[in-house]
Formats: sequence, C-alpha cells, structure tokens
Amino acid sequence: MLAPLGKRLLKHTRGYQGSSVSCPSCQRPSKFQGSRDKKFISLLGEIVIEDSAYYHWPACHTGHVPIDAALALAARRLTPAAEELTTLAGTVGSFAVAAEKLLPKMAGLGLGESTLERATEAADERPGQL
Ligand SMILES: [Zn+2]
Repeated sequence: MLAPLGKRLLKHTRGYQGSSVSCPSCQRPSKFQGSRDKKFISLLGEIVIEDSAYYHWPACHTGHVPIDAALALAARRLTPAAEELTTLAGTVGSFAVAAEKLLPKMAGLGLGESTLERATEAADERPGQL
C-alpha cells in the first residue's frame, strides 16, 4: 500500500538529469546509460523507484544513480531515518533481538540481522551521530 505512494511522489524525478552529467568522482561528463529499479528501505517499508536514471563514465569505472543523492541514500539501502532507527535498535540488545523483535515493533521494519549489524557498525565509525 505504501510503495505506490513513493512511486507517485517520485514519479517525475527518477534522477534523470540529461544525456550526460559531471561524474562526482572525476568531474568528467558521464553518460546516461539507461534506467534500473532502485529499491530502498524507508520508515514506511520498502520503496521501489522504477526506472531510476543510471550514469556511467567508462574511464574511471564509476557509475552513479543521481536519485541516491536526492534521497540522501549514498550507496546504502536505508534512508537516513530508517538507518538511525536501525542503529538505535542495534545498540539496545543483540542484533538478533533487534532484527526479530525491536524493529518490527518500532516501525514494522523486517530487516535481516546482517543488515542491522552492518548499519550499527557503520554508525559506530561515525562518532557523534547517536
Ligand atoms: Zn569519474
């Protein structure tokens, strides 16, 4: 029920910025390669943006999906809010308890134990965020 909401909100963006954009790594123009489905986990559950634009610069072997930046996703699968909640759950008890009980109760999120562990450990490496 919630995924269509996400699709509607983002229907007109999808990250397409023209036939080429500057590569965030080397600043050279990268070419539009086509589109692919982008899946991520928000506090509202999994959202799929169909046909999000994908760019690639062959010289530096870097690809990027502009909608990641628009949604503050970086290379992660979790939105910042979902990541914060996941990290919080991961610091309360064991990762197994957090994945099986805390997250489903707090936000209805069904994440795997390994996803939760990675998010919590990544947050540990960014002091001052919790
Ligand atoms: Zn590049």
